[in-house]
Amino acid sequence: MTFRNGEDTITVDAVVVGAGFGGLRMLHELRQLGKSVQVIETASDVGGTWYWNRYPGARTDSESWIYAYYFSKELQEDWDWAERFPAQPETLRYLQHVADRFDMRKDIEFSTRVNSAVYDEQTNTWTVVTDKGQTYTCTYFISAVGLLTVPYKPNFPGIDDFTGDWYFTGRWPKEGVDFTGKRVAVIGAGATAVQAVPIIAKTAEHLTMFQRTPNYVMPARNYILTPEERQGIRTDYENIWDLAKQHFFGFAMEPAGRLASQASPEEQQRVLEAGWEAGGFRFIFETFDDILVDETSNEVAAEFVRNKIRAIVKDPETAELLCPKDYPLAGKRPPLGNFYYETFNRDNVSLVDVSNSPITEITANGIRTETGEYDADIIVFATGFDAVTGSVTGMDIRGRNGLSLRDKWKDGPLTHLGICVEDFPNMFMLSGPQSPFANIPVVIEGSVEWISHTLTHMGENNLASIEPTAEAVQNWRQHVNELVNATVLSKGKNSWLMGDNIPGKAHEVLFFFGGAGLYRQECQQVIEQGYPGFAFSDQSERALV
Ligand code: NAP
Repeated sequence: MTFRNGEDTITVDAVVVGAGFGGLRMLHELRQLGKSVQVIETASDVGGTWYWNRYPGARTDSESWIYAYYFSKELQEDWDWAERFPAQPETLRYLQHVADRFDMRKDIEFSTRVNSAVYDEQTNTWTVVTDKGQTYTCTYFISAVGLLTVPYKPNFPGIDDFTGDWYFTGRWPKEGVDFTGKRVAVIGAGATAVQAVPIIAKTAEHLTMFQRTPNYVMPARNYILTPEERQGIRTDYENIWDLAKQHFFGFAMEPAGRLASQASPEEQQRVLEAGWEAGGFRFIFETFDDILVDETSNEVAAEFVRNKIRAIVKDPETAELLCPKDYPLAGKRPPLGNFYYETFNRDNVSLVDVSNSPITEITANGIRTETGEYDADIIVFATGFDAVTGSVTGMDIRGRNGLSLRDKWKDGPLTHLGICVEDFPNMFMLSGPQSPFANIPVVIEGSVEWISHTLTHMGENNLASIEPTAEAVQNWRQHVNELVNATVLSKGKNSWLMGDNIPGKAHEVLFFFGGAGLYRQECQQVIEQGYPGFAFSDQSERALV
């Protein structure tokens, strides 16, 4: 129930921050539980990541049929994806459709930022204050702020002197940018730049890409879905989602059932070639099951990618610069390309290696590195995000005794299940730190189901608050560290998965790398075993439910 206490304070059961994939799904679930909900969203519409990231070429790296919700059969039935990997406008339309279909907008406050959320021990409530001066009190404070939300811009001196225009990919103008006849500098070589560069190059007079670390880019092999394919997907939904829920990265793929370490060199090449043709992450997951855990097998696949780069890119010097050589495949999150390497064969595209000659400043006319100057009319910052924790600690969140979450996490995040934080009772996170690195809708669905079970359990047992124990949090931290250390995934350079892309950020794994399937099982076990590792208070008279 929603109460209006005088002029300024509105009381609801739950405040949810964010109206992207997570926030919308959470709103739906809380309504099903009969809770009153206020969603607060910075943007002027739903969409989250897909609202902000309108840069040219933006599209999903997950196949459309599993980059969606599966909580509603009717929703699945009445939405048709156009492409294997939908572009940003299509994904945004999908989320807008969900919001309209379930009449969600009436519970969302748009163009509003949460400044602070403070827990009050006496009343067992959270007080949430927005930049519009609105105050909400609630029993449950739920962060669904997304993991790639806060853009990171390196602190190059001189940006104010630049006479051209500059843009963040993660804050792209709605009206778009006209590159016709312009000299464009793109800084970055991650998944975002990999998508943007081939499109910008089509109209720019010249495009110069500044690359510090090359990535292993696999071809997406996107295509338009035919009516028959769409019908096939629909018929097979249950099987598709069963596979995705169990798959390590939440994709509808089966294990390959073979190991590169046990295959002959000919067999290795034959299988990798088929994976390369299949496109997307099938190159990793449908070829050999030991690519992520066996360094020798990983090197076979890594060298296969390098040889593809050398075969595609005509200029041998450029090809070598594009080849990652000093970290394993998937040591950084591998991007999917749509004619990415082919773009470096264009006359109007050049690559500048800034690994040994870093960018030193932005000048009035462009970019200066230690060894050169490059004129530009437009600079595109594709320099990534203060990932996972940045969006949560961007709010001033205070738990028991005024403890600040920023302080608590200064040496890295501490959570249980990536959902709850000790000393922050009744706070829940979707896509929080130490939750799985996997296809996001699958992760979100699992976390929402867990929160839903938990709120039901609390209601049935007259429990007013939940928080994890210190021991459970330490065990979870140890668990996520052991999991990542058993793979090659922590061995990349400047990887945002480990907090290493932001100068000064704690080096700490930000994800559970045990797979989406194992994570679901572990969450389910917590429920079945009566919530070991969690403390409840039963002061039900304090709860405002
Ligand atoms: P990113 O992977 O962190 O890449 C940022 C790029 O900026 C890197 O190449 C980095 O170089 C470079 N950079 C940062 N500071 C620099 C400096 N001072 N000088 C020169 N270069 C600098 O960010 P992103 O490309 O935005 O991708 C982040 C994540 O978003 C992806 O990994 C992916 O998970 C997600 N994403 C998904 C999709 C999709 O699903 N379709 C699309 C785009 C992004 P270093 O590598 O040397 O640090």
